[in-house]
Amino acid sequence: MLRKIEYLYQFIEKINIVFLHKIFRLKKFITLNLVLFISFSWAQTFQLPSLKFAYTDYEPFIDAKTMEIHHSKHHQTYVNNLNKAIQGTKLEKFSLNNLLINTSYFSETIRNNAGGHYNHSLFWEILTPKSNSSPDEILLKAIEESFGKLDSLQTKLQQAAMIRFGSGWAWLIVNPDGKLQVTHTGNQDNPLMDVISERGIPIIGIDVWEHAYYLKHQNKRNDYIYAIWSILDWGVISEKYQAAIKDPTLEKIKQDNWPELKAFHKVMSATFHAAEKSDFKPIIERNNELKVNAYLLKNSEIPVLNPTEEATMSKSLHKLEKQTNDLNRYLTIGRKISDKLIFKKLTAIHDTFHEIAGLCKEE
Ligand code: MN
Repeated sequence: MLRKIEYLYQFIEKINIVFLHKIFRLKKFITLNLVLFISFSWAQTFQLPSLKFAYTDYEPFIDAKTMEIHHSKHHQTYVNNLNKAIQGTKLEKFSLNNLLINTSYFSETIRNNAGGHYNHSLFWEILTPKSNSSPDEILLKAIEESFGKLDSLQTKLQQAAMIRFGSGWAWLIVNPDGKLQVTHTGNQDNPLMDVISERGIPIIGIDVWEHAYYLKHQNKRNDYIYAIWSILDWGVISEKYQAAIKDPTLEKIKQDNWPELKAFHKVMSATFHAAEKSDFKPIIERNNELKVNAYLLKNSEIPVLNPTEEATMSKSLHKLEKQTNDLNRYLTIGRKISDKLIFKKLTAIHDTFHEIAGLCKEE
């Protein structure tokens, strides 16, 4: 009898251990998910950056009221609307840079608010009411190379700001060739975006929306640009220049400036991604278009500076042409070929495309 009780005790103990163990695992599971959830939500929320100076410090160049409304109301609204637009979508995982350089794939709301957030963040960063610095040696050399002298850059920026009709921005950018260039864009667009023809990495951005100057300067946009020129933080701008010329984004923009690649990608994406979902109609209808685009791509000017890369690129382009030709021959031969074989060949084409273009935008 005693022995039986002892067994019973042991049995209960065993159950308890299993039970406790389960609870412990459940707790661990919940904690892990909570941590993941918190870090996930934290990482994906864009925040209004704080200013380096008080609103009043920008006087008399920019009045305190304008600074306050511009920063705490206008910029904050772009941040809020951007967060709202990406909430619960796969875009939560995108960096601001990626939202901008791929903006043609997203909604107008993303374009306007991601642009608004980026542009204003840059604007606050490059303004200083405190020091009257000048460009460092490296930047000054680049300015002289592109514009002759610093004054000419000022004139160019002034002109860009005046030419821009209505709301927008005037920019000094590092273009895909690594050269400085003055441009302007409308609304909250900026030169990183793939919807803009003159692209590059901005190192100066001047807000020419009326909300940036109307309280003090009313309709005199030119006076406002003058005022901004006097408070540019050349220390920050010089750093931005050196970062921009080394930034891999420049190479990405350069590839996007390769219209033949873009054209090929369009057909590739429509046919391959459909085939992935077992829909072979697009590739059957458009395989000739794919072949023609591969041919045009092979014969286009390759926007790569490094000769080694150019050789590799050229090899991949030849391979792509051969593969698309091959698939086209299969599909026009009049003989029934299996979906499996079409998919195999299309996947090989897609792999070669990756060798050329890096990752697809969808991935
Ligand atoms: Mn603004």
